[in-house]
Amino acid sequence: MKLDNTQVLMMDDIPFQPNLPKLLRKLRVKEDTRYAKQIECLLDEAQAIARPRAMYRVAYVDSRDEDSVVIGGVRFHSRVLRVNLDSVHRVFPFVVTGGTELHEWMQAQDDMLLRYYADVISETALRQASAMLKAHLVRRYALGRTSTMSPGSLEDWPIQEQRPLFALLGDLEQAIGVRLTDSMLMIPSKSVSGIRFPVEKTFESCQLCQRERCPSRKAPYDPDLYARRYRPEMEAASEGLR
Ligand code: SF4
Repeated sequence: MKLDNTQVLMMDDIPFQPNLPKLLRKLRVKEDTRYAKQIECLLDEAQAIARPRAMYRVAYVDSRDEDSVVIGGVRFHSRVLRVNLDSVHRVFPFVVTGGTELHEWMQAQDDMLLRYYADVISETALRQASAMLKAHLVRRYALGRTSTMSPGSLEDWPIQEQRPLFALLGDLEQAIGVRLTDSMLMIPSKSVSGIRFPVEKTFESCQLCQRERCPSRKAPYDPDLYARRYRPEMEAASEGLR
């Protein structure tokens, strides 16, 4: 791990430890078949080149107003984030990636099925790296329960807020190879950005998201949660007057 003079920390030694039987189950491929052999070869290739990395910093909440919060001198516009950080002072903005090596390897697969397998393998590398970053933060900063929010996961916190988040973390492209496109998507695509923060009760953005049949859903949609916890008082009062 490296620490630079802006207190941004880089994890560039994250191992990729894939589990073939688990992957085969996920892909619904039986062992000892031609497809299983192809996946095993891809997994060997991926493991040989993968270099998942992460970058994060310790940042502090400077101020809050009704719909925004200032963290490390940078303002973020989200009512939900602002309420979630109501009694929080220290937060951990981060970007974690499966890495440019896996991205290029995945892009180079010219067979559609192999490319799909490579995509799932790269996603697995990203998920493992995310879990390692979380474990590292919890251990190093003696955190209890934590949650994360990511720009673009909710209408309340639009994808354009990737810019201020990236601004908090310095030159991500040079450090870990992650850049933003004009439409605010990250390249490599197997990357996740966000802010991790301590919570008393676990929060998942999915609780406020109505998207049906999302394969990544982590919690059921709660139709009353926004009104219960996040609706601004003025708005709630004017609703009551109608
Ligand atoms: S349900 Fe899916 S799209 Fe909605 S916040 Fe969760 S992971 Fe994102």
